[in-house]
Amino acid sequence: MTKLNRRLFLVAGLAAAGGAVALPGLAGASGPRAVAGDPFQLGVASGDPRPDGMVLWTRLAAKPLDIGGGMGTANVAVDWEIATDEAFATVVQRGTETAIAGEGHSVHAEPRGLPAGAEFFYRFRSGTFISPVGRTRTAPAAGSDPGSVKVAMASCQHFEEGWYHAHRFMAADEPDLILFLGDYMYEKQSGLGTKVRGYVDFDEVDNLDEYRLRYAQTKLDPGLKAAHAVAPWLAVFDDHELANNWWGNGTGWPAARKQASFQAYWENLPLPRSMKPTGPAIPLYRRVPWGTLARFHMMDTRQYRWQQAPNNNCTEIRRTDRTLTGAAQEKWLLDGLAAGGSKWDLLGQQVFFAGRDVDGATGTCDVSEDAWDGYDASRKRITQGWIDRRVRNPVVLTGDVHRHWANDLRLNYFDHASAIVGTELVTSSITSGGNPGSSDPPPAEVAKNPHVHYVGNQRGYVRATVTGTELTAEFTKVSSIVEPDPAKVTMAVSRRFVVQDGRPGLQAG
Ligand code: FE
Ligand code: CA
Repeated sequence: MTKLNRRLFLVAGLAAAGGAVALPGLAGASGPRAVAGDPFQLGVASGDPRPDGMVLWTRLAAKPLDIGGGMGTANVAVDWEIATDEAFATVVQRGTETAIAGEGHSVHAEPRGLPAGAEFFYRFRSGTFISPVGRTRTAPAAGSDPGSVKVAMASCQHFEEGWYHAHRFMAADEPDLILFLGDYMYEKQSGLGTKVRGYVDFDEVDNLDEYRLRYAQTKLDPGLKAAHAVAPWLAVFDDHELANNWWGNGTGWPAARKQASFQAYWENLPLPRSMKPTGPAIPLYRRVPWGTLARFHMMDTRQYRWQQAPNNNCTEIRRTDRTLTGAAQEKWLLDGLAAGGSKWDLLGQQVFFAGRDVDGATGTCDVSEDAWDGYDASRKRITQGWIDRRVRNPVVLTGDVHRHWANDLRLNYFDHASAIVGTELVTSSITSGGNPGSSDPPPAEVAKNPHVHYVGNQRGYVRATVTGTELTAEFTKVSSIVEPDPAKVTMAVSRRFVVQDGRPGLQAG
């Protein structure tokens, strides 16, 4: 059996077998309970690894496409266990969590005291039902060098616009970490003429029941389940988990809708309890160290941003007090960068960082107002901040734009002779935008922005291996997202780049 098949068997096979088998070794504290059917149809996930533990996630839903998931209003006890082997011969910790109806019957178990830098397997039980098995890991011990870390990054998966084949290939890579950079689901139906599959029909998702149901439908995709089950995720949201191009600062979006969106996001991603939202606020940005090798600064470019500037409005776009991050997050990021301690600083965030001015001339502000271009002063403070703090290897990891891009970073994108001070890897979408045409021309602005090394209109993800001497990134492409049969879909590497330690910017790989 190939590695891919073995991993998919692990996920799908055990899900199918998750019937009445009460495996010996599972904690017996909870006993059988009345559950209307297999409550583990949404799969399992893990996230936010630390040197001594991680989050183990599942969400019970016996009828995933019903409001309430077919779980009623009662809380349900869920046992979990984590082992060093797939057969659960050596269980290292067990516990019982309460899946609370008011939390969408989600489970966020957080084992502690596990050995650092190690691989584990976990599963859940509710009544007589056993969940699929997930693989996860702890982060390396503080001060230790793991030698390398293998990550995958992805974004933008409109369910109606294609099949999540890219996730299957990501799972087959068996990365140490998966970064999901936003648009996990979409609040609106697809605008494409032809849909591959349909969302349960709402005009626009805008309350907690509807947000929950949309996540449930998204999570039924077997490819996505495989990617969740294979490695811990570091997830941040972008706009569509709430509404298109929302901005957080001020009164632009109703508090009730923000609260519903954040609550559903927390319930449906493997996030720690400490990140549970309070009213219309969620503490999303955080830092995940990977020994002395790398740190992941996971950012929030929605909740604290000013409203987007009006189209092409240079006066507003170039205001020096504009912010995309908010002052507190900016200070958090720069203080964290100043503290150092790792060879690579990876900024996981949502929107395009490098300059992308359409005519390449400073006189007109023909840029994306929603991206960092629309918050030029905010971007300059952060870029100058990492220069001043002598950050050795800053790499920005981005989603949002439904194309792959690879960019050198500069302080001034109009000065093509200025120093290269960082690197940006932008991952295309898993599905959003639909199957691209093979003859799609590159966007016009590419020629005017020589810091852009690559743009590719394709569906896929980016995988990267980071070592003490270099970061190697591969931009991947799946052959189709409209073909439902995974056996007929292939994946290829379309471009490869290297970033050398101590030398910002992209080299041909
Ligand atoms: Fe998107
Ligand atoms: Ca311009």
